[in-house]
Amino acid sequence: MNIDIRSLEPGDNQMSLPIPKEEIDASIAKLASDGNLELAIFHSDVESTVVADLTASVELSCARCLCEFEMEITSQFTVALRKGKPGTISEDSDVPVIFYDAAEGLADITAVVADEIGVNIPMQTVCDDDCKGLCVKCGADLNEETCNCEKEAANPVWDKLKKLNKES
Ligand SMILES: [Zn+2]
Ligand SMILES: [Zn+2]
Repeated sequence: MNIDIRSLEPGDNQMSLPIPKEEIDASIAKLASDGNLELAIFHSDVESTVVADLTASVELSCARCLCEFEMEITSQFTVALRKGKPGTISEDSDVPVIFYDAAEGLADITAVVADEIGVNIPMQTVCDDDCKGLCVKCGADLNEETCNCEKEAANPVWDKLKKLNKES
């Protein structure tokens, strides 16, 4: 995903940029479809400052019932673009700086976009706050059915401890 520096006017610029789903590393996030960036870019000869509004739909699996579901991520981030050795990203200043080849004029923002999507995915993802999860005994999806397993056996850790006690 590149920002074409040569297409920028001095001063304020507005543009949309798609996030092709195949460009985001699946180990970071699996996009359900192409995402989108709305970019506000202030361009000068020294540096271009980019304020990006990101929208992307990611595929996740529920930590409780293991079903697959989609979650929309929206987030805003800022990056600066400067001439320099392409492919390098500096995190020294307040905002990340992406360097691009001056002759080529294409700033690759893929890594920063992927990072931004990654940090916006919650650690524990559930399909619904009310998701009842799977029965630990019979594996029934408790969102769809009820099972006859005893409730007190709902914690597998206790089951294991009980077994250990019996064996010793
Ligand atoms: Zn669930
Ligand atoms: Zn059950």
